[in-house]
Amino acid sequence: MTENVVNIIGGGLAGCEAALYLASRGVKARLYEAKPKWRSAAHKSDGLAEIVCSNSLKSTVQTTAGGTLKNELDTLGCRLLEIARQNSVPAGSALAVDRERFSQAVTDAVYSDGNITVINEIVRDIDRTALTLVCAGPVCHDELARSLAELTGEKSLHFFDAAAPIVTGECVDMTKAFFGARYGKGDADYLNCPMTKEEYLAFYEALVGAERVIDEVGGVFEGCMPVEVMAARGVDALRYGPLRPVGFRDAGKPYAVLQLRRENTDSTLYNLVGFQTNLKFGEQKRVFSLIPALKDIEIVRYGVMHRNTFINAPVCLNSDLRLKAYGNIFIAGQLCGVEGYVESIATGLLAAVNAERVLRGEQTVVPPERTVLGALCKYIASPNSDFQPMNANFGILPPLDGVKKAERKQAYFDRSAVAMSDWAQKTGVRR
Ligand SMILES: Cc1cc2nc3c(=O)[nH]c(=O)nc-3n(C[C@H](O)[C@H](O)[C@H](O)COP(=O)(O)OP(=O)(O)OC[C@H]3O[C@@H](n4cnc5c(N)ncnc54)[C@H](O)[C@@H]3O)c2cc1C
Repeated sequence: MTENVVNIIGGGLAGCEAALYLASRGVKARLYEAKPKWRSAAHKSDGLAEIVCSNSLKSTVQTTAGGTLKNELDTLGCRLLEIARQNSVPAGSALAVDRERFSQAVTDAVYSDGNITVINEIVRDIDRTALTLVCAGPVCHDELARSLAELTGEKSLHFFDAAAPIVTGECVDMTKAFFGARYGKGDADYLNCPMTKEEYLAFYEALVGAERVIDEVGGVFEGCMPVEVMAARGVDALRYGPLRPVGFRDAGKPYAVLQLRRENTDSTLYNLVGFQTNLKFGEQKRVFSLIPALKDIEIVRYGVMHRNTFINAPVCLNSDLRLKAYGNIFIAGQLCGVEGYVESIATGLLAAVNAERVLRGEQTVVPPERTVLGALCKYIASPNSDFQPMNANFGILPPLDGVKKAERKQAYFDRSAVAMSDWAQKTGVRR
């Protein structure tokens, strides 16, 4: 691989960040963007780095995982965050952008950079021999998805995101929940949240009456039923499904039981088993907090049901974002199994860092696990038989020992800031 050029497929958030990073390092980038020849159902404009839905890039507050990730990206010299700030609109403690001005500013930066060539073409086949970053997003062109499926193995590509909410272990009221598996199968693997008849009926009424998200990109619910749709089939439908109260000999006689399954090896995160949902985010918090053990629910990743193409990263991706089977092909952005605008930008940046290192014959690198970006990379590449995309949250970071709960979030931030700064210096990523 002697040619000093990197192919980037997709001029969205990940692809533009990657192109601008490479260009700033004197590496030539060929950025393939399907627009304006073809546009996905989610994209409405012909500009690069289009923000497809909410205009919020989430919190800037240090004591949030989103704020911590932004601080890490600033340390690495992230261009898209800089442009986002230049085109922000007032949104309290969140970084929200004027989407048109943001997209135009990124488009201008990319087109005016002599190291970047934009090619307006639909990429249908991924070249297996070229150094390539695939950043075509969750609603990428079908033929590219087919090509990616061939590279990763048919079973390694998912087309729908039907995810149940993930909550922190810390928020579960352990005076109301208990560990155990139905019929004693397994080793107390689940955290069980029982309900009395009155509690169940109140929860049920709220669930069937809650506001849902209208499907944004067409035809979604094949083979995977949202919990609210199942509930609407009858008052007892859930008690014969995910909330069946059977198999717990020592738990009295609960009327319904929600099970929480461990989401990571540190047991800091749990998912609500069988609760894939299409409720609006605020409604998820309101309705699921009616389950007594989840009264103080802290959702780190809301349930979603929409078209979302992503690879089965635990099977086919390394934490440096390279395909296991093709060391010259990187996957970044939402396609690699992260969720969210800033997470997509972050993985675009890391893939570019590593593509440059491959070009120079150097070892690839991954930020330390103590950073949100490093923890995300570790998370997506770790074994997980029920993999769903993950966004920035403190639950994926290694726990902090001996830090009081009230001081923990700031401590996560401080630890990440030091780790990322050291890493940037050591690897020479800082520009
Ligand atoms: C409907 C929807 C709503 C979302 N809402 C939010 C939200 O509110 N907040 C949030 O944080 N995240 C949201 N996300 C998730 C995610 O953050 C965004 O999808 C984000 O834009 C992903 O960035 P990306 O760079 O991976 O892909 P994109 O930004 O989608 O960029 C991919 C680019 O690749 C191009 N492309 C696709 N196929 C080809 C091809 N074959 N050849 C050449 N170019 C191609 C596309 O035209 C596009 O420009 C949403 C996702 C979807 C689908």
